[in-house]
Amino acid sequence: MNARTLDPAHHLIEKEPYYEAVGDEILLFEAAWRQQIPVLLKGPTGCGKTRFMEHMAWRLKRPLITVSCHDDLTASDLVGRYLVKGGETVWVDGPLTRAVRAGGICYLDEVVEARKDTMVVIHPLADDRRTLPMEKLGLEVEAPPEFCLAISYNPGYQSVLKDLKQSTRQRFVALEFDYPSAELERRIVATESGVSEAVASNLVRFAQMTRNLKGSGLEEGASTRLLVHAGKLIADGVSPVSACKAAVAQAVTDDDDMLKAIQELSSSIF
Ligand code: ADP
Repeated sequence: MNARTLDPAHHLIEKEPYYEAVGDEILLFEAAWRQQIPVLLKGPTGCGKTRFMEHMAWRLKRPLITVSCHDDLTASDLVGRYLVKGGETVWVDGPLTRAVRAGGICYLDEVVEARKDTMVVIHPLADDRRTLPMEKLGLEVEAPPEFCLAISYNPGYQSVLKDLKQSTRQRFVALEFDYPSAELERRIVATESGVSEAVASNLVRFAQMTRNLKGSGLEEGASTRLLVHAGKLIADGVSPVSACKAAVAQAVTDDDDMLKAIQELSSSIF
């Protein structure tokens, strides 16, 4: 493991991450942070939640520790565990503990993916107690005022198994994220990928068409992230139709009919 990734000091973001505000999310996050209320970011994948967190960590000058949650993620993965190193048993803090100790921002991405016991760990951190129980060490760590817990959740993937429980969600200030307005998205795609405003505008139009297919065979339309990918390929010399196929169509579906439908959309625009 790389020691750099373990030291929260290295998670300080020095250069401003480019972020276009969609509404009053920056103000709301800053207020929630000052008031020591945890934050829940809701919204589909690829619509700027991670970038927003990077931007806020830079603004608030706090280290950012991001954990992508998955269905094997346990409370110990977050809190820490004993490891045998050179014949000795040593305690190694997990990312959540490191963030708490450093007064940083801990961002748990796609939190509903994690195993149920992880929620037990974040609950006392996400209410007035603001403590992290470290069962294996038999102690509780109190979070400093600068510490912030943020989690993300995609309501689009909602299922009985993968729903965020009321007992969890009602501890958070919730910020809703969605695809930006056409004008804003055009600016984001042009800035991030290097394509002209005209090409970016067509990519956005194409994305909006794919988003209309959601529910009729498509789980999720093209996200801003995919448009940035397509834009980067185009800026690198790939034809727009090929770029849309590789970066967007193939990324959102494996279904042959749907692939054809999406390709027809891009051919009609480019
Ligand atoms: P999420 O975390 O919601 O899945 P990301 O934050 O990774 O999505 O966003 C994907 C990409 O889209 C970013 O890397 C960035 O290029 C672009 N992006 C999306 N929204 C914005 C925004 N509001 N400002 C700047 N870039 C954005």
